[in-house]
Amino acid sequence: MSTILLEGAPVAQALYEKAARTSAGLQAQGVNPVVALVRVGENPADISYENSIKKNMSKGGVSAVTAGLAQSASTEQVLETIHTLNESPIVHGIMLFRPMPEQIDGETIRHAIHPAKDVDGITDMSLGGVFTGSGIGFAPCTAQAVIEMLDYYGIDLQGRSVAVVGRSLVIGRPVSMLLLEKNATVTLCHSRTPKLMDVTKRADIVVTATGRAKAYGPEYFAPHQTVIDVGINTDPGSGKLCGDVDFAAVSTKVSAITPVPGGLGAVTTAVLVSHVVEAAKKAAERG
Ligand code: NDP
Repeated sequence: MSTILLEGAPVAQALYEKAARTSAGLQAQGVNPVVALVRVGENPADISYENSIKKNMSKGGVSAVTAGLAQSASTEQVLETIHTLNESPIVHGIMLFRPMPEQIDGETIRHAIHPAKDVDGITDMSLGGVFTGSGIGFAPCTAQAVIEMLDYYGIDLQGRSVAVVGRSLVIGRPVSMLLLEKNATVTLCHSRTPKLMDVTKRADIVVTATGRAKAYGPEYFAPHQTVIDVGINTDPGSGKLCGDVDFAAVSTKVSAITPVPGGLGAVTTAVLVSHVVEAAKKAAERG
């Protein structure tokens, strides 16, 4: 059968273009969308991620500034930085590099971000907003990226059944709520779900977010299905990047599937950029 490959690049491109158009409109009114990246220490992985975020932010007309603190910074010092950024009229979004060094109370810092600037969707207020549909804060970017992917490729959710595998607060739970909002019928599965493959096989759409490299082979899927693989794992055999789904074995046996790499990851970053522009737009509307 011919399978549709749900590639992330065109979805991300469309999101960047939309963000850049909105940003241009804001800039014409004197509002320059800005995100502050809060980094404690000089972890090379954080710095490389920071560079890639800055490059991607510019695609959507967003300026990124780094609020860098010393590796030895205390919780109080990071909190002070967050409070300053919360109050700043020129900063619209705040993003933390996590985990922070162990002397810092990450939970206290997470809760300190103002929901209006929580573009990464990490505060309980933002998560509450996803669950109540109140629009407070922003949805976690990966969860929203799943919706953007389905939307871009015209995969209707109304009345469809979706099996979500994985119930984490960053992906499984919020994506289930966003799918419900689109009138899908959602089954949220986890490590204690009995007969998982019976559940996944019955669904129209399967979203896997477990962090288990290539754990799901063809026996979990059916030919009519769309498969969204959120997993970003290292294949223990080859050392290469892979998803939760055994792509080589499954990709010819379902109707549509996201590759890993090349699928959801790029969309997640573009969603983050869109959130900053949206935060700037809301701030401008509030005046
Ligand atoms: P977590 O470890 O927080 O959660 C994993 C979830 O998978 C848990 O709910 C767990 O169930 C469930 N699970 C584990 N084993 C099984 C099993 N055998 N059967 C069914 N469910 C199982 O992971 P995250 O949600 O943070 O990340 C998931 C994946 O997504 C990772 O590969 C991560 O790298 C990737 N990721 C991708 C992003 C992207 O942009 N594409 C961004 C962020 C993460 P239980 O609750 O019962 O333990």
